[in-house]
Amino acid sequence: MSDVKYRRVMLKLSGEALAGEQGFGINPPVIRKVAEELKEIQEMGVEVAIVVGGGNMWRGEAGAAMGMERAQADYIGMLGTVMNALALQDNLESVGVPTRVQTAIEMRQIAEPYIRRKAVRHLEKGRVVIFAAGTGSPYFSTDTTSALRAAEINADVILMAKNGVDGVYSADPQKDDSATKFEELTHLDIINKNLQVMDTTASTLSMDNDIPLVVFNLNEPGNIKKVVLGEAIGTTVRG
Ligand code: UDP
Repeated sequence: MSDVKYRRVMLKLSGEALAGEQGFGINPPVIRKVAEELKEIQEMGVEVAIVVGGGNMWRGEAGAAMGMERAQADYIGMLGTVMNALALQDNLESVGVPTRVQTAIEMRQIAEPYIRRKAVRHLEKGRVVIFAAGTGSPYFSTDTTSALRAAEINADVILMAKNGVDGVYSADPQKDDSATKFEELTHLDIINKNLQVMDTTASTLSMDNDIPLVVFNLNEPGNIKKVVLGEAIGTTVRG
């Protein structure tokens, strides 16, 4: 435990990160790999909270673009995150990691409602806590949820797991050869340079509450552990 840089982490897993190469839905081998990596850090004594996204299922904005009412479309998106959370819970438990899912919209038959003090207690007992259904409110994102929950539970860092991209770049590295990677940034840089790491609401919340962020590539095996140990991979974003 002495080598660990971050003792309580908030991992933001986008829906895409659970979809693998198919780009939509849930890819069981991909989730299994994530679960195995999380088991490693949980066994090192790191307290792990996770916010799962839902973009592999549905995005509220896309629904609104097709003519749906935005709030209604966003609720569908929040339900998508619950499906991901249950799949992740199943995988974590099958590799022997105790977990709890807490939802911001009550569905007591399948998960606990979000109760901050209970979540912290679970973390202290070594359980991985998965936060689902976002903030419970439309017009927000799961990036914002991760910043909000990180502040609420006093997480040391937000770990922003990316699908194939190893940090924050000056432009999209898949489209622009001149794109360069940043080693360090501030939340304000992200807002001012419009770097699209997380949405502005999530960035301002992280900035105001002084929560650092590490953006790293989830597809590289062993990266979650490296980040937790403080190895210089990805991009670190400070208050
Ligand atoms: N969402 C919402 N409120 C929240 C979090 C999420 O309405 O607090 C909805 C929103 O429609 C969003 C969808 O859930 O498009 C999926 O979340 P997100 O796009 O953040 O997932 P990710 O991109 O991380 O997979």
